Amino acid sequence: MNRSSSNWEKKCFQCGLCCHEKVIVGKDVIYNLDAYCEYYDPKTHQCTIYLERLERNARCRRVTRFKAMFASYLPDTCAYVQWARLHHIRFAPRRHIRYARGNLGASDDADAPASLNSL
Ligand code: SF4
Repeated sequence: MNRSSSNWEKKCFQCGLCCHEKVIVGKDVIYNLDAYCEYYDPKTHQCTIYLERLERNARCRRVTRFKAMFASYLPDTCAYVQWARLHHIRFAPRRHIRYARGNLGASDDADAPASLNSL
């Protein structure tokens, strides 16, 4: 990892929201709090292999500058989205975040952990 990518990685708040299964429905992005990457720790809301995640988990994707600009599944609270907004280069539509447990058809914001609600 070179110095500039290291600085980019450090921007991440490690909130873990992008580690949950999610679907986009209209203007909403629904995060399934019961379905997440096997390396995600729901108690700490952090990745347990963060620095090696791209090598150890083939499903993990780096949040690039392009994704910061265009990926609408990233929440407004994401550090990279905030970076893109700060630089006036965020072009993805704003989406309302909803949380679900188990069945994505039964979303309920009240189920969101306090630490996620405060994001
Ligand atoms: S949503 Fe953004 S800030 Fe949160 S873990 Fe993912 S990349 Fe990091």
